[in-house]
Amino acid sequence: NPRLCVCVVGSGGVGKSSMTIRFLEDRFPEYYDPTVEEKYVTEISHSGKVFDIEIIDTAGQEEFFKYRDSSLAEGDAYLALYSINSLSSWLELKELRKKIEQEKEHPDEIPMVVCGNKKDLDEYREVPVDEVIEYCSKIGSPFMETSAKTGLCVRDSFHAVMEQVKLLTPHL
Ligand code: GDP
Ligand code: MG
Repeated sequence: NPRLCVCVVGSGGVGKSSMTIRFLEDRFPEYYDPTVEEKYVTEISHSGKVFDIEIIDTAGQEEFFKYRDSSLAEGDAYLALYSINSLSSWLELKELRKKIEQEKEHPDEIPMVVCGNKKDLDEYREVPVDEVIEYCSKIGSPFMETSAKTGLCVRDSFHAVMEQVKLLTPHL
């Protein structure tokens, strides 16, 4: 099977580990050590093809400028998260995108899906959705709102990443 590395990125606390566990095990973890970076290997079948996926649940963004650039560069594709109730997580996601672009030979062809996580906390929304939609259309990335807690659009978001891979890196 073709191998593919998907990096789950975003500020500390946006739900990277929760999204990853929800996708892999269909449950919402009670607690996940925010400092631990985990790698998982799984299979995803997408449009008739089976891929061996390595998912890197990145960590360490609390000290944003010390973000481990190595794991950022490693990704073939990215699930980029912010949390809809945290404006700073949205601003940091845009900085993160810039960092990833700097690592890439073809910065305009990065398979990435942007997710506004914690959709279940809609009443505490801080991030205006219009701004996200405009930004995402500029960078050519799909955008969706997810909830690792309820499971909303979690599978869809990973499959959207696969679709971006198919569109942008068809040789994989
Ligand atoms: P990470 O640092 O990005 O890996 O974030 P975690 O997955 O550890 O989640 C940080 C906190 O947000 C934890 O308390 C999670 O239970 C919570 N959390 C994660 N996803 C959601 C979600 O979709 N909805 C709500 N309400 N809380 C969430
Ligand atoms: Mg985590």
